[in-house]
Amino acid sequence: MLWLRSLIYYIFTALIAMFIGAIAGKEWGLTFALVVISVACLFHLVNLNRLHYWLKHPQVDNVPGSLMLWQEVFDQIYDEMRKQKKSKERLASTLDRFLSAAEALPDGVVILDDYDRIEWCNPASCEHLGLNRKLDMGQPITHLLRHPSLREYLKQQDYSHPVIIRTTRPAEQTLSAQMVPFDSTRKLLLSRDITQLERVQTVHRDFVANVSHELRTPLTVVGGFIETMIDMPTSDAKTRETHLQLMYDQTQRMQRLVEDLLTLSKLESGVQVREEEVDIPQLLQLLRTEANGLSQGRHTIEIGRLDRPRLIGNHDELHSALGNLVSNAIRYTPPGGTVTLGWEKRDDTVCFTCRDTGIGIAPEHIPRLTERFYRVDRGRSRNTGGTGLGLAIVKHILHRHQAQMCITSELGKGSEFAVKFPNARMIE
Ligand code: ADP
Repeated sequence: MLWLRSLIYYIFTALIAMFIGAIAGKEWGLTFALVVISVACLFHLVNLNRLHYWLKHPQVDNVPGSLMLWQEVFDQIYDEMRKQKKSKERLASTLDRFLSAAEALPDGVVILDDYDRIEWCNPASCEHLGLNRKLDMGQPITHLLRHPSLREYLKQQDYSHPVIIRTTRPAEQTLSAQMVPFDSTRKLLLSRDITQLERVQTVHRDFVANVSHELRTPLTVVGGFIETMIDMPTSDAKTRETHLQLMYDQTQRMQRLVEDLLTLSKLESGVQVREEEVDIPQLLQLLRTEANGLSQGRHTIEIGRLDRPRLIGNHDELHSALGNLVSNAIRYTPPGGTVTLGWEKRDDTVCFTCRDTGIGIAPEHIPRLTERFYRVDRGRSRNTGGTGLGLAIVKHILHRHQAQMCITSELGKGSEFAVKFPNARMIE
């Protein structure tokens, strides 16, 4: 203990002074004590002054040095300063990391003070809300927001739910924004781009509506015939047979639709299938036989150029996708037309081609053909047993094989569906 050691020092000085007093007389003892105490006082004053001077600019690098007790005091100050410096550096780097993380967030974050003035905001919030990080600092957020619904939300001060904003500038997007109070007076204004999510929800809604619509017609037909049969049980055998045949056709249509829906859902679930060596020329022969069965002699089915490379892929999926293209070619080609299949190497790719001399497709429809339930001519598709899901299934399967489909067509003359597989899937 520092004070105890100081006390011992003074007791020791007093004892020596008493000893000198006893040997050489009282005056000498007192003189000795006075000199020692004066030197000690001077020493303390000098060090006190140095401490006072250092406290004006307390830096770890210029803590003064001294002797004895004062050296210990200065050492302790030095240690404390070093600890503080280290913890400050640690805090600063943690703060830096948090700031960088907040800056990199894809969601917008704005920190507001108790008067709703902007204290800090990240780049995403500037993009979402049109803020300027330099000019808008310290400005009340209500003066800067352009979206009426967001201004209304802030005015109402009910922050229990987010508000949805639709913007057109700088880009068309849908945002979800929510105020989160924290720290008793401050608030966080969070914004998130939900354009993609909303798009998915719309696609999902449209899909359910389409499926319901597709099922409604055959169900109404079947229901109507059953009702007629209940109301008129005595109808003649021929009428009954016609009704039963029509009902059967409609149930077949529903079955095809459900099968296609199940195939799509299986493909969308992303379950990986076994990949193997597929002999495409052999598959082409199989497709030709099937096409002949479908055409019933009304079309000429040819195999054009036939290179020999094999492909790495899933046989059943490729059979289903390429078979779909061939069946479309037959269904959309009037009797007497020709369907030509080909399998050839083109530059860095291998290409399956299915060319027909059918009704062709107008250019404006081509980009939308692989959308689910998109048909150019609804009536023709239905009459030939189409579900409107064929090309959507083809697109999924080709995507799983990193293949690209290229459609070229001329109205009234015919179409070509070319599927390019990457070179990496090819085996000579
Ligand atoms: P669908 O079951 O109606 O045939 P698809 O998804 O297979 O559905 O095809 C979508 C639409 O693309 C068809 O309705 C048809 O209008 C058009 N289409 C597809 N293949 C051809 C083709 N070879 N010739 C002309 N039109 C075609």
